[in-house]
Amino acid sequence: MTAAPSDATSPDGGPPDGPPAGGPGRKLGQLAELEVSVLKGVGTAALRDLAELGIGTVLDLITHYPRQGRYIDGTRLVPIADLVVGDKASVLGEVTRVSSPSSGYGRGRRRGPSRVEVEIADDSARLKVVFFNQAWRAKQLAVGTLALFFGTIGTYRDALQLSSPTADVLRAAGDDGEPDDGDRKGRIFPVYPLTEKANLTSARISRYVGEALDRAGRFADPLSEAWRRRLDLVDRTEAFNHIHRPTSLAQCEPARRRLAFDELFRLQLALVLRKLRLQDDARGIRHTVSRSDGGPTLTDRFLDRLPFCPTGAQQRAITAILDDLAGPLPMHRLLQGDVGSGKTVVAVAALLVAVEGGHQGALMAPTEVLAEQHAGAVAELVDSLTVSDPTTLEGWRPLRVALLTSKTAARGRAAIHAGLADGTVDILIGTHALLTDQVEFHSLGVVVIDEQHRFGVEQRAALRAKGRGPDDTGHDPDLLVMTATPIPRTAAMVVFGDLDMTIVDELPPGRLPVTTAWLRTPLEVEEAWSRVRSEVARGHRAFVVCPLVEGSERVEATSVVAEAERLAASELSGLRVGLLHGQLPSAEKERVMADFRSGALEVLVATTVIEVGVDVAEATVMVIEDADRFGIAQLHQLRGRVGRGSDPAWCYLLSESDAPEPEARLSAMEQSTDGFALAEVDLELRGEGTILGARQKGKSDLKLARLISDQDLVVEARSVAEELVADDPELSAHRLLVDELRIFIEDDEAEFLFKS
Ligand code: ADP
Ligand code: MG
Repeated sequence: MTAAPSDATSPDGGPPDGPPAGGPGRKLGQLAELEVSVLKGVGTAALRDLAELGIGTVLDLITHYPRQGRYIDGTRLVPIADLVVGDKASVLGEVTRVSSPSSGYGRGRRRGPSRVEVEIADDSARLKVVFFNQAWRAKQLAVGTLALFFGTIGTYRDALQLSSPTADVLRAAGDDGEPDDGDRKGRIFPVYPLTEKANLTSARISRYVGEALDRAGRFADPLSEAWRRRLDLVDRTEAFNHIHRPTSLAQCEPARRRLAFDELFRLQLALVLRKLRLQDDARGIRHTVSRSDGGPTLTDRFLDRLPFCPTGAQQRAITAILDDLAGPLPMHRLLQGDVGSGKTVVAVAALLVAVEGGHQGALMAPTEVLAEQHAGAVAELVDSLTVSDPTTLEGWRPLRVALLTSKTAARGRAAIHAGLADGTVDILIGTHALLTDQVEFHSLGVVVIDEQHRFGVEQRAALRAKGRGPDDTGHDPDLLVMTATPIPRTAAMVVFGDLDMTIVDELPPGRLPVTTAWLRTPLEVEEAWSRVRSEVARGHRAFVVCPLVEGSERVEATSVVAEAERLAASELSGLRVGLLHGQLPSAEKERVMADFRSGALEVLVATTVIEVGVDVAEATVMVIEDADRFGIAQLHQLRGRVGRGSDPAWCYLLSESDAPEPEARLSAMEQSTDGFALAEVDLELRGEGTILGARQKGKSDLKLARLISDQDLVVEARSVAEELVADDPELSAHRLLVDELRIFIEDDEAEFLFKS
């Protein structure tokens, strides 16, 4: 398809649109400034309808893409007269009769499903179409409506019939605008995503888009021809035209690829620029990673004293981090590793580098339980390490680790604040409480954020800002972000594209994969409880995770209490059963965890408060009730609470569900214990929505790009963005790209990326 002529006249008969100002070709920025009301036929009612779909500007309109893969090929439409029983057919017809919804055959309680009968016709014949339990179809398919029906042709009392097909309205009854069906026979037309509420049809959107594209003329293309050739992408004018009005189905995918590339490219460009700008502005610390006297650093001493030998992957990660820390720029690194791969050791090694140089370290965790556990573990790991302190008689003092959560008592908190300000607290561990204004550091050197998926970008920035201090005289601390469970590589490029990445791809030696079984029937479930009893008899411990409950934490707590009582009185009678949920007071939580660690409690019935990080080596059984309610990442994380020692461990997923989606999740869990493999499955099942939810702030510009099937595009977009920014960090030769980025990112982000 060629571009429409650019001499179309404006609707009010004014002068023809000349070539857009400021260079050849139409810019997206110009379309973002134009309201859809400039289009013919878009009056007040249409404006309202379009607004329902989030369409306000011409740019919104032309980036409202046809539903993925839904094009109707007019060349393959079969006339009604030629239909044969058993055909899977697209039938284009106008509604000639419609029954009001009937409640069908039968009376009273035995009444059948409600039923709407519609008769449609084309030039060749008539056809009966029936819908069950879709009473609203009677209204949607009023007489005179032109619609496309897709389904399998059946028969009823010797006549052909289409039952419950999909139906896409192309022209509503009484809609007097074009398209007459005549000229559609030989065309491909797109099916647009519509809401039931919006009073629009695909045909009307198609008409508006067509007019917009005709009048827009040729698009300016930020990708030069050389680049397009290298990337095998069509030009932008062709892409917009082919995605909205292809003349053959073969045009659709290349058009989609090009526009999807643009989305990913803008995103990667913003991320690559963000990374660069953070460096431009940085006041980093060159940390001391080796001592001038050649003696062991705190990190060396810490690693020497570990009761185990770090894995090769841990050593590689630590080396990469020490390199970053020694350099002048602040580190921005993502540490990915499977559950149980030992990320905490790597984090502590980094925190100690800060302390070595007289700075402080901070570790932020998403939950109180986890923060407490980290504080306990870190205190133990650094026990007997000392820091030099000329004010003491000895010239040194013990290294001081403090825990700060919202539950920390006022007096303790004041002491911690004071210690942070004068530098006598070396490592601070805590929850969001670390972000409060009262927390001021003497000199914050290294920040670690655990289980990053629970925190937003803003919180990352807020914690980092603690290094500069309120008067902005300090430094930018080095930042290490850790994920709870792995996310696929390409997804990480999108979500954490402004961070460098290190992967800990090795588990400590001697770990046995956790045997995982999905138990469906009461008989099968007995296996789980008998395993709990036999493992406890051998001195091990077990977790029972209760289902997620809709509603408040309090409701959830009540149900956990009930389940713990039930189990203690039945399947697990005679065992010492404890209880853990978010509503317990801190002291109680701490006591329960301590008792479980020591073995005073043998079974812990809990909500997902134990999800992340809880580390008890003797725990060998995990029972997850109503496992179908949980997502893969969460199940994998929960399962990671067992099998942390060298004993065999089991995870039982209890669920009677046979719905396809939970089935896919639970089977994946049974088949694999590899978090990276599961992450791919998860992304495939859930789509990108959830991952992108955690993405950089801002409007999601990814409408066409798919993280799994477009992995190659993600990688290409990344490499082109890096190449471009390396050559031209201000993008001064790429004003068009800069303008486009400004449309798609938030103002304050744009401010940061392009200071001017
Ligand atoms: P995660 O990566 O899931 O946060 P943790 O850091 O909590 O994992 O470590 C899991 C467990 O493995 C902890 O008990 C930790 O002490 C232990 N561990 C870590 N590194 C090693 C190692 N190299 N050899 C043996 N055990 C290790
Ligand atoms: Mg961890």
